Amino acid sequence: MASYDKHPGKLFIISGPSGAGKGTICKRLIEDSDAGKIELSISMTTREKRVGEVDGKSYYFVSKESFIEKISEGGFLEHAEVYGNYYGTPKEKVLAKLSEGIDVVLEIDIQGALKVKEVYPNGIFIFILPPSMSILRKRLTGRGTDSMETIDMRLAQTLDELSYIEEYDYVVVNGELEEAVNRVKAVVTAEHSRVTKNIKKLLMDKYKEEA
Ligand code: ADP
Ligand code: 5GP
Repeated sequence: MASYDKHPGKLFIISGPSGAGKGTICKRLIEDSDAGKIELSISMTTREKRVGEVDGKSYYFVSKESFIEKISEGGFLEHAEVYGNYYGTPKEKVLAKLSEGIDVVLEIDIQGALKVKEVYPNGIFIFILPPSMSILRKRLTGRGTDSMETIDMRLAQTLDELSYIEEYDYVVVNGELEEAVNRVKAVVTAEHSRVTKNIKKLLMDKYKEEA
């Protein structure tokens, strides 16, 4: 991906209803990218580890006490309580990557995304939508990670969450996976061609140096 020198990385916030396909799309986005260009931020959570999840890879699994301590240290870019558990985005790691010129992807819920927008308005906010409520139900059931009660709660929440869509820059409907992944990749590419506030100085410095 062409970029100009000394340009900080971009922060992509991928959110949307539970089961919309955020995790699946993010995984593909990172897998298909050149190493060191774009990385997924690993969140911290107090929820129980699910079968197959790995500490430090899926999440950093911590106790409620450690999580609260980190909040008091100002260690999160955002944090939220989602369905009774705490989730948060470790601040230092994300900012360090961005300053190294690496793009960072946050896969977080909608309340988290809105908080990130307050502290990092230059982020690029992408809303992932399922094609329909019935498909969303099927996917949540098929994922096999949640009880029927949790699925019903997550579905009920989806309509509320939709009301925040206008806070986002892009919306991607996750019908056919390949198409959805390609659309998210297209957003990343387009954002790297955006004329930003500091572009004039960056380019002047670069081209003067080379002239
Ligand atoms: P989220 O991270 O938004 O909660 P997931 O990525 O876990 O959602 O996806 C929910 C379920 O739907 C998973 O079982 C996943 O394999 C499946 N899924 C995701 N995207 C698609 C798609 N485009 N077509 C069919 N199944 C999908
Ligand atoms: P799960 O428990 O299914 O992994 O995630 C539940 C919800 O929490 C998902 O909507 C997921 O996107 C969200 N989530 C994961 N990490 C974070 C985070 O760091 N901050 C916030 N606000 N939400 C998160």
